[in-house]
Amino acid sequence: MSNRVHQGHFARKRFGQNFLHDEFIIESIVAAIQPREGQALVEIGPGLAALTIPVSKQVDHLTVIEIDRDLAHRLLENPILNNKISVIEQDALTFDFNQLSEQLGKSLRVFGNLPYNISTPLMFHLFQYADIIDDMHFMLQKEVVTRLVAGPNCKDYGRLSVMAQYYCHIIPVLEVPPTSFKPAPKVDSAVVKLVPYKNKPYLVNDIKTLSRVTTEAFNQRRKTIRNSLSNMFTDEQLTELDINPNLRAENLTVEQYCLLANAWK
Ligand code: SAM
Repeated sequence: MSNRVHQGHFARKRFGQNFLHDEFIIESIVAAIQPREGQALVEIGPGLAALTIPVSKQVDHLTVIEIDRDLAHRLLENPILNNKISVIEQDALTFDFNQLSEQLGKSLRVFGNLPYNISTPLMFHLFQYADIIDDMHFMLQKEVVTRLVAGPNCKDYGRLSVMAQYYCHIIPVLEVPPTSFKPAPKVDSAVVKLVPYKNKPYLVNDIKTLSRVTTEAFNQRRKTIRNSLSNMFTDEQLTELDINPNLRAENLTVEQYCLLANAWK
């Protein structure tokens, strides 16, 4: 049998389908999430319900968002799940999480073994809803988790690190080998917990400006910021902010990026 077939479903590459089948890893993820009765749990990409079933055993209701029509229908027909879950057949990248939070009257706890091809844009989409999210647990490519938690002065520190750390406190949870999935992905994976700050350590007046500064700086990460940020700041302005123009993008802290965003006119 093709290794792409799992529980009678042919895994679709375009939807990043790698299904978890390792009981120990599944239990560890559910233990990390700690689902509790009364919470508004939302799963992105439930697939064949590897995480959905054990989570559903601990709560009275959960919402799942699944883009694959066949899988969405299978979930609705699952006798263990069908009176406990609301299945939203939609692309999570365009989903309005505010509306769901309003409808449920609660802030959300989001989790999922994310399709790797869209995990970064999906996290950026979710950061827009940070105010109505209590926490997020995601399975990601290990390399993405490394970038999420990286601090200044290292090669993994980039735009994703700065933007994610602006919104969230980030805690790596566990590493997962390719053999835990069917079909096995080519890369190592890891689970991470992201907790949006109730009170952010540094505030920016306009998030779009923070996004622009980090994009311009890291797009030319080998150049000094004197050069990479020359469209936005003069040497004198950088020096006035106590930021050395000879530094490179990876040498600046999240606080310094926020300072730059707030100084830009
Ligand atoms: N949760 C299952 C598990 O752990 O075995 C499946 C995980 S699989 C890596 C990713 C899941 O996300 C698949 O079910 C896939 O169909 C779904 N998916 C892919 N792109 C999506 C999108 N844009 N919005 C919602 N679900 C998506």
